[in-house]
Amino acid sequence: MSRRVSAAPIPPSAAPAAEDARDARALSPAENADLCAGCVRCCTYVSIEIDPPRSAWEYDQWIWVLHHRGLQIYLERPERWFLHVEGVCRQLNAAGRCDIHGRHPVLCRDYDPRTCERRYPLSDIRAWFREAADLEAWMQRERPAHWRRLVAWRRDAPQAPPVADALAARAPAGFVPVESLAVSAAGARRPAGRPGREALPRRSAASTRRASAGRRAG
Ligand code: SF4
Ligand code: SF4
Repeated sequence: MSRRVSAAPIPPSAAPAAEDARDARALSPAENADLCAGCVRCCTYVSIEIDPPRSAWEYDQWIWVLHHRGLQIYLERPERWFLHVEGVCRQLNAAGRCDIHGRHPVLCRDYDPRTCERRYPLSDIRAWFREAADLEAWMQRERPAHWRRLVAWRRDAPQAPPVADALAARAPAGFVPVESLAVSAAGARRPAGRPGREALPRRSAASTRRASAGRRAG
């Protein structure tokens, strides 16, 4: 199992080591240091559980995410989806030790080095999507009905902005100089007539809420 933020965290007692009944929190710092010698893998990424996509807009949203460098998604049996972000923890020092050991997150303490990904392959993983094309190919192969719905949804959605609108005639009304986005001394300033993020229909989907909640929890 990878170290990750889940909607329902795994209690320490649910992942016992085969020959040692103690849970991960009972290991001493010396035991942890010994078990983790030469490895820092689980301190170099973040995995956050997300809602399994079903509708076309949800797949579209995660395909959009996968167009971004550094963002990946994987799928575990029976069906648990995770957003995976490579990123080294700021508390990992040059010696490969945790700089805040003793007050490090409980999530870290519960990850058991006796049964971690260093010692056991991530056998629950059904699919790993490193870019948008991976998820699209998987949908065509494993979820053809969902893929057809996505293709139809894309086909029926308007292309925006229309080519003519992108030309000069539209520019005076829609153009917002970059300088006007500067933050004033009094706080954030929004250009007149421009909608706030809360007014935008996309990228605020329900299935991203759990990820946000998870980050706060982690
Ligand atoms: S818990 Fe496992 S993956 Fe993490 S640093 Fe220790 S040995 Fe490596
Ligand atoms: S807080 Fe410490 S144990 Fe947790 S991920 Fe960072 S370096 Fe690793």
